[in-house]
Amino acid sequence: MKMAMITGITGQDGAYLSKLLLSKGYNIIGVLRKNKKSNLKNLEYLGVSNKIKFIKMDLLDLPFIIKILENNNIDEIYNFAAQSSVGLSFNTPIETINFNIISTANLLEAIRIVNPKIKYYQASSSEMFGNVEKQNLPINETTAFHPISPYGTSKAASHWITVNYREIYNIFAVCGICFNHESVLRGYNFVTKKIIDTAVKISMGFANEIKLGNLKIFRDWGYAPNYVKAMWLMLQQDTPEDYVISSGEAHSLEEFTKKVFEKLKLDIDKFIKIDKNLYRPTDLEINYGDNSKAKNKLEWNYNMNFEQLINKLVDDELKYFDWKIKHNNKSISDLKILK
Ligand code: NDP
Repeated sequence: MKMAMITGITGQDGAYLSKLLLSKGYNIIGVLRKNKKSNLKNLEYLGVSNKIKFIKMDLLDLPFIIKILENNNIDEIYNFAAQSSVGLSFNTPIETINFNIISTANLLEAIRIVNPKIKYYQASSSEMFGNVEKQNLPINETTAFHPISPYGTSKAASHWITVNYREIYNIFAVCGICFNHESVLRGYNFVTKKIIDTAVKISMGFANEIKLGNLKIFRDWGYAPNYVKAMWLMLQQDTPEDYVISSGEAHSLEEFTKKVFEKLKLDIDKFIKIDKNLYRPTDLEINYGDNSKAKNKLEWNYNMNFEQLINKLVDDELKYFDWKIKHNNKSISDLKILK
């Protein structure tokens, strides 16, 4: 039986990967923050919270990580823990840079010291590339980085630290260069979740408007439960390599919003308010990825198109809404029915 340690287990990817690994017979150690009460709702929603051994850990504390690796026979580490919001990183640049980079370096250093045979997955991001010239799209594994946010910068540094540990110390360390991936478990501070969650609430009479920023951005959106499969596949290969994980399509946020409202049979013009305060200091205009390496080498069979993705996200959100009511989740008890 393999043992995996997952940092950031309470987040979207941590929850879906836990479910996948449990279905493959893994034992899982889930890393929770040391100084903050953790919310296990994502793991509870997927019905896996009671199958995981949790450890509270400060990922900035290298001696403690070393102790955990010494006391547990870990085969694979998936490092998802990060201040993961681009928007928030503009307000907390030092915290984002400090945590995201040092936690990565600490985990790899602990592997080097305790057991260099442990395989390591790093959650790299399409935000590392910044605004790529249109003629150089789609982005692939060789595209140059030029991040334009503290988040992107922190991920680019973590990426190179991971590559360095692979090349210098011969550790099986890989980076999944993921483009945006969504699900019902996406955090509420992400615009896609805000749009779908609010649209569902509007359709049920719990909300009557949604404020959005720049809708003229184009992104490559995919479905998170399928993306974690690619992450796992990366650690099952004979050689450690980095892979772009993306849908391969770019669509505007405007189109995303329209499709969500159409699916719920709502008149978008009645509910959307554009708020310039929600514009970012710098924003990517367009990005999309070339997933052919992942498809060919990992045999990753992603085939959900944009239309199917939106339909799935809205259907899942409707089911989630019922679940929240049944479980008397705080966010639902806080809602007021609008007249
Ligand atoms: P989430 O935001 O859903 O989860 C982030 C996780 O990191 C949570 O478990 C959170 O814990 C934890 N975390 C945040 N700050 C700290 C901290 N200071 N100390 C310890 N833990 C912390 O992210 P996703 O699951 O969506 O993404 C997983 C990883 O992939 C992240 O690193 C993200 O940056 C990266 N990524 C994600 C993409 C996407 O589209 N989803 C695209 C590209 C990269 P808590 O619950 O306690 O807050």
